[in-house]
Amino acid sequence: MTETHVLDQLHATFGFSAFRGVQDQVVSRVLDGQSTLAVMPTGAGKSLTYQLPAVMLPGTCVVISPLIALMHDQLRSALANGIRAATLTSVDADREQTIDRFRAGELDLLYVAPERASQGHFRELLSKAPVCLFAIDEAHCVSEWGHDFRPDYRALRPLMDAFPDVPRLALTATADAQTRADVLAQLGIPADGLIVAGFDRPNIRYAIRHRDNPVRQLTTLMAEQPGPGIVYAPTRKKVEELADKLSAATGRPVLPYHAGLPPEVRAANQAAFVASEEMVMVATVAFGMGIDKPDVRFVAHAGIPKSIEGYYQETGRAGRDGDPSVAVMLWGADDFARARMRLEEVDETRRVGERARLDALAALVETGSCRRAVLLRHFGEHPPETCGNCDNCLDAPGIRDVTELARKVLSA
Ligand code: ADP
Ligand code: MG
Repeated sequence: MTETHVLDQLHATFGFSAFRGVQDQVVSRVLDGQSTLAVMPTGAGKSLTYQLPAVMLPGTCVVISPLIALMHDQLRSALANGIRAATLTSVDADREQTIDRFRAGELDLLYVAPERASQGHFRELLSKAPVCLFAIDEAHCVSEWGHDFRPDYRALRPLMDAFPDVPRLALTATADAQTRADVLAQLGIPADGLIVAGFDRPNIRYAIRHRDNPVRQLTTLMAEQPGPGIVYAPTRKKVEELADKLSAATGRPVLPYHAGLPPEVRAANQAAFVASEEMVMVATVAFGMGIDKPDVRFVAHAGIPKSIEGYYQETGRAGRDGDPSVAVMLWGADDFARARMRLEEVDETRRVGERARLDALAALVETGSCRRAVLLRHFGEHPPETCGNCDNCLDAPGIRDVTELARKVLSA
């Protein structure tokens, strides 16, 4: 397959004229039949790295994805691009028809939940259908080192081992060195199959502040940032409370979002946020996955996130359009005290990983040096000592070319 052929197909299927970042490396490995783990930040375009080969190779790409809602999002966009795709989940009424199409080789993509991997009849089905690729989305779920361990992902290895000629493509946005090594081992991907994209988001200004008066601090932030923003709060109660207070204090449109709200309210609030150029969403971490809003100008944490991975993913929702954006974390000593207490309740096998994650987060919060450098080193990169675009770099003596506005935001 020639390079031009691949680019033609990229344009024909997705309407894009070029690959982004490491996409071309990943796609060419997959087309060569080589198993790969691609670590690419959120929004980097991971889906395309299996969808394009799925269209080009004869047979079906079987995609493992952890959430039915994510699968249906992916299905919708694949179908919109004219890709022959289907989902095979407990909520799909047309399962029989999908299985027939799969066996007949009429599908480019088949999305399945990881539970299915451990079922004997699914293995049997695979042996009767033309499978060209296994794509494992959110592959960090296979590792207990990852922040989102899903035991069902462990059944994938024995299933895929039954089809040694089918290459594997594992995808994740969030894997530190340890998780990465574990994902490779757990999914049987050779170490030289690792491709890591750059994690730096230079347009995001990081600031981490002690939380003294969150309503006042967030009000100041909102005054400096008239564009859309997300405030993450640790509990549903805090979400409701903060949304009310921020709305009253600023007069800006502010809405709450958490899993306790009726689905239609959640959907309406999300739609309003996506359409708005000034709205602030106060939310639990239930909000954000799969939301495509490029002009989010700030992401604030009103309490500590669960891990550096979580922090990176959540702050990464700011500034997808590349314009200047800020990420502000307001932390309190009680956040860490509570998280350490919760550690005592998790079972032994997970505690080691969880403690390491909490320690890494504490190091990011406590550092007096460049935040970005700590963040990027966590993801295995070798960044410069200073970035000039985080609170610690901007406050450092010798760097005083900060605008008044930026300074106010950072001291908010
Ligand atoms: P990820 O899964 O890595 O978070 P997605 O696969 O959801 O990212 O892609 C994020 C967005 O980037 C989508 O809107 C997608 O259409 C777009 N995108 C992907 N690849 C390209 C490309 N080569 N050129 C332009 N846009 C792209
Ligand atoms: Mg994705």
